[in-house]
Amino acid sequence: MTATTHRTQPAPEPAAPAPGRAAPAAAPTAARLPQLGDWSNARELARLQDEQLTATLAWAARSPFYRDRGPVPADRAGFDALPLTTKQDLREQYPFGMLAVDRTRLATYHESSGTAGRPTPSYYTAEDWVDLAERFARKWIGIEPADTFLVRTPYALMITGHLAHAAARLRGATVVPGDNRSLAMPYSRVVRVLHDLEVSLTWSMPTETLLWAAAAKAAGLRPDRDFPALRALYVGGEPLSAARRARISEIWGVPLVQEYGSTETGSLSGECQHGRMHLWADRAIFEVYHPDTGELTADGAGQLVVTPLFREAMPLLRYNLEDDVEVSLADCPCGWALPTVRVLGRAAFGYPVAGTRVTQHELEELVFRLPADLGVMFWRARADADVLRIQVEAAEDRRREVSPALAALVQAELGVPCQVTALEEGTLVPREVLTGIHDVLKPRSLFGADEDWDKALLYY
Ligand code: AMP
Ligand code: MG
Ligand code: ZN
Repeated sequence: MTATTHRTQPAPEPAAPAPGRAAPAAAPTAARLPQLGDWSNARELARLQDEQLTATLAWAARSPFYRDRGPVPADRAGFDALPLTTKQDLREQYPFGMLAVDRTRLATYHESSGTAGRPTPSYYTAEDWVDLAERFARKWIGIEPADTFLVRTPYALMITGHLAHAAARLRGATVVPGDNRSLAMPYSRVVRVLHDLEVSLTWSMPTETLLWAAAAKAAGLRPDRDFPALRALYVGGEPLSAARRARISEIWGVPLVQEYGSTETGSLSGECQHGRMHLWADRAIFEVYHPDTGELTADGAGQLVVTPLFREAMPLLRYNLEDDVEVSLADCPCGWALPTVRVLGRAAFGYPVAGTRVTQHELEELVFRLPADLGVMFWRARADADVLRIQVEAAEDRRREVSPALAALVQAELGVPCQVTALEEGTLVPREVLTGIHDVLKPRSLFGADEDWDKALLYY
């Protein structure tokens, strides 16, 4: 199997570029990585993993962190006795304590979202990036050269924007880099781009797609009718209930393709056409950690532990992502022969109301079970000690129906006292957020007599 020769043999010399043409930038020369179809059962998959694990462990032995922790084992038996690597370890090793290659070989440096205090670093070589981009590109509705792909996750520090960007380039699509944290890309511009450029694929958090829908309506467009080029919405990064997923798909008239990953690891899993999320177990070893017993198992419910197999710059052995998941080894009709995962994540986290714990996931499920024609997309809730306060935006002509309908659902399904308030559209998501355009200007210092010179240096 060619996959087993990954990086163990010198790559062929790249052909000299034709005269007048630039050499390709950081040309990925890695040999072929494992691909779907290279194995047909769990035993063959385990053999693929074991064959690559030797190289993975050798790379880890060059990491100061792993070297200092004790001898790095050379085989699967030794691997199975290793302790976990924690997020705290990564933070303590900030910035380059896990670096296992010469710094000249690094292609990118990243940090996770929302890390207050000491950041969680991760870095990759150009070869590591081939594995990353291929993993993201594994979508059952695939990326094609004819696609125009809107990347709508952050680019700053995190990996997510770059990941989708690299995958789309790898598959020959046209990338529209639409960073959702950039002032240059307000929602009105997203709608213009989706429409005028005939965007066919998008990558974002699920919540974004609802904001686009509201912005499209504010611009006089219908999401399900006025964007005929759209083929699929790639989503990830946050929990998504079945009801919200179905509603988004109905609003846009296209399927959602969900994935799960992290900045420290890249994409870890993606959906097959049967709607199950499969772990990319040919590219990483996955285990489930049970904090109560300290045990690690191949499946079951617990915290997801990952060992990326094709990652040289910053090897991670048994890295505990601390995400609550449920892994299953049951067969799936897609035939990929890969385990499946359900990510509970912070969805499982809840707040008590009158003695009952209420989770965001449960509430979201109920909000999006309301009839579609009520048009509810935006809501928030607060768990007070003895009552759950819920606010939802609703169109004027349906506002009176929303409160009793949702209150009835919450009482029936969750059994907690609740108070539902239907708000005017634009209360939770202000209209100017959906329609506004920021001036994104370059700095200047000289202004005319009637211009606002307060913008001199604060040019954003
Ligand atoms: P970050 O480390 O900032 O890149 O964010 C990654 C984290 O987002 C993961 O560890 C999960 O907690 C969460 N996440 C990513 N994708 C999903 C998903 N599809 N469902 C639920 N949570 C997700
Ligand atoms: Mg994270
Ligand atoms: Zn499947």
